[in-house]
Amino acid sequence: MTPSCDVAVIGAGILGLAHAWSAAKRGLRVTLFERSPRAAGASIRNFGMVWPIGQPAGPPRETALLSRARWLELRDTFGLWVNECGSLHLAYREDELAVLEEFVSQEGGPTDALRLLSADEVLARSPAANPESLLGGLWSATELCVNPRTTIAHLPEHLQDRYNVDLQFHTPVTRVDGHKIIAGDGRTWHADRVVVCSGSDFETLFPEVFRNAPLTLCKLQMLRTAAQPDGWRIGPHLAGGLTLRHYTSFRDCPSLPALCDRIDRETPELNRYGIHVMASQNDAGQVILGDSHEYGEEISPFDKPEIDELILRELRRMIRLPDWTIAERWHGIYAKCTDGLVYESEPEPGIHVVVGPGGAGMTLSFGLAEQQWSRWAGPSRVEP
Ligand SMILES: Cc1cc2nc3c(=O)[nH]c(=O)nc-3n(C[C@H](O)[C@H](O)[C@H](O)COP(=O)(O)OP(=O)(O)OC[C@H]3O[C@@H](n4cnc5c(N)ncnc54)[C@H](O)[C@@H]3O)c2cc1C
Repeated sequence: MTPSCDVAVIGAGILGLAHAWSAAKRGLRVTLFERSPRAAGASIRNFGMVWPIGQPAGPPRETALLSRARWLELRDTFGLWVNECGSLHLAYREDELAVLEEFVSQEGGPTDALRLLSADEVLARSPAANPESLLGGLWSATELCVNPRTTIAHLPEHLQDRYNVDLQFHTPVTRVDGHKIIAGDGRTWHADRVVVCSGSDFETLFPEVFRNAPLTLCKLQMLRTAAQPDGWRIGPHLAGGLTLRHYTSFRDCPSLPALCDRIDRETPELNRYGIHVMASQNDAGQVILGDSHEYGEEISPFDKPEIDELILRELRRMIRLPDWTIAERWHGIYAKCTDGLVYESEPEPGIHVVVGPGGAGMTLSFGLAEQQWSRWAGPSRVEP
């Protein structure tokens, strides 16, 4: 007999896990398919930054904050490591400080959770901030640090234990035919609803949907240090002036164009590779460093050493670490929806393709999935 379930989720990256969790919390019988023995896509390769401050005020920020609440729920329910570290944008130039000031007033003025700090106040929060020429920084309390590798490895088991989610790992789904799911080895399942969260794979399932979809691929190079000595901690996530060009939340700040012009003039090599720099520290004390952005046709299977050098050059200007030993280098590729937070399509009734949260999948996925499941199946039931 063909096994059946209420919901089949295809892809066990963060977006697929979020959909599986939201469906399971509503009492639905969920089967989660993943082609690899362990998911190895964008979701295990990121900084682990849950970054609401990067989302513009309004629905995107609300989705990020809903996600944030879900991350805290995961910590409380399953004991996953989630650090309420907040973030600091460091300012070394007057134009950076100007954008940060404008951002705070655009957000309704300073509060304990969002305010400009003096250089001394910044240094009191992070021993990693380079004090030389430091003018101050923006403190935001909403950012979280999570560990992508352990989350993606362990959350499926927690969903299995708590909600009886059926895990079908090492199972590539090669076709979805109506409500029939067909695996590469010929096994089949029936599902009332199918959610395809296939990340950057636009070829295997529903290629016709992807052909004209507003989606692009983006490759990022990343590095990680060895664990820092003696329990040294970075404090909040750290970002700087380069990052203000990257997140749309700063787009309406009047001083941003001048800042972008100045960076173009002084360091055009950074724009060539879409480089802005950030640092986060995981529970093992390792500092994750990045990143670059190369899109579509520019993406090569091979990494560019000059990108790593530029990332490290910019980070060394901004932060100080007790140990800069680089223990790992890697790249990741994500799908990005170019006209929304995520791309959604329903090629057949009850069959949903949901991909492309771009550089914000850790920030948005739980919120996006929860909002989607509230529309499909109402609010989640109260947990015992
Ligand atoms: C280097 C890097 C740094 C980043 N930093 C951050 C950050 O700090 N904060 C943040 O919010 N976001 C960050 N992001 C973005 C975030 O990682 C992505 O948005 C997110 O991981 C996308 O999740 P996903 O589930 O859509 O895709 P993926 O994680 O790629 O998962 C897709 C899964 O589907 C599986 N799959 C595909 N096709 C099939 C099939 N036919 N059958 C079975 N399984 C299939 C794949 O094996 C894969 O495991 C970063 C991304 C990168 C690459």
